[in-house]
Amino acid sequence: MQDINLHHITTDRLSSSFLDEKKISVDVLRLDKIHPLVSGNKWFKLRYYLEQAATTRKKRIVTWGGAWSNHILATAAACNLHRLPCSGIIRGEESTTLSSTLVTARELGMQLLFISRDDYRYKRIPADLAMEDNFFIPEGGYGTTGAKGAATIADQYNQEDYTHTCCAAGTGTMSAGLIRAALSGKKIVAVSVLKNNWALEDHILQLAENKTGFLQLLHDYHFGGYANYQPELIAYMNDFYTQTNIPSDFVYTGKLFFACNDLIRNNFFPPGSKLLIIHSGGLQGNTSLNKGTLIF
Ligand SMILES: *Cc1c(COP(=O)(O)O)cnc(C)c1O
Repeated sequence: MQDINLHHITTDRLSSSFLDEKKISVDVLRLDKIHPLVSGNKWFKLRYYLEQAATTRKKRIVTWGGAWSNHILATAAACNLHRLPCSGIIRGEESTTLSSTLVTARELGMQLLFISRDDYRYKRIPADLAMEDNFFIPEGGYGTTGAKGAATIADQYNQEDYTHTCCAAGTGTMSAGLIRAALSGKKIVAVSVLKNNWALEDHILQLAENKTGFLQLLHDYHFGGYANYQPELIAYMNDFYTQTNIPSDFVYTGKLFFACNDLIRNNFFPPGSKLLIIHSGGLQGNTSLNKGTLIF
């Protein structure tokens, strides 16, 4: 497997008369470039979990996810690189055609175990995995260890250059990491990709050790809910790609770029603001869309 390479990360400056007019500068941190499959932020969230698993000499890594999960794929790839056995507990019964995400995870050596949606909701652990001395990573890398890893994303840019760091939020672990790392006076703008996830703010603040005054959490850009989308989102993603050459995914970063554009248009950011938008990867998930939906 191709190595994960942090040297591939670039910071891309966006330029347009719209941004000039609004007196806003925008850079995009391309974490999506670290690996074609291993989603940028997922690798950062996983790094200390894997370290812990290795130092405590656990037999196997076990984690959870759905059929198109970036986290499942990132875990499979990271374990492959570190030569750690791993299992993925997958939501729903095994279907006759596996998603390309799961096909790749299996090729990378991950054992796949399918459980019913009910069992998944309660995170029931299949008996043989529960009996062994395994290392369990929460779904999505959620948790303090994940947030500490995500905090190291801030090593990839100079905080002094920006007023706001913008990112997509699922579990909120990445946002929490960015808050943990944030210098005083900086803002972390998090765009929730779930519908009505009102508990998210508390989760983020918990993982950020109650560092308050940094988070600006937005709930209005979910496009119907997690992994849902509308034609307006797809059109924007295609348009954004045409203008910037930056591909996005429909679950996270597409919603993030759409939100940032909308917020700038509505003067959410004071003139003179300097934005860093985190491109957290996730492009592999676009393969779940019908061919031709996206132009990239
Ligand atoms: C998982 C994921 C996120 C969300 O990260 P959280 O830490 O769960 O909030 C954002 N972007 C991409 C591409 C992801 O795969």
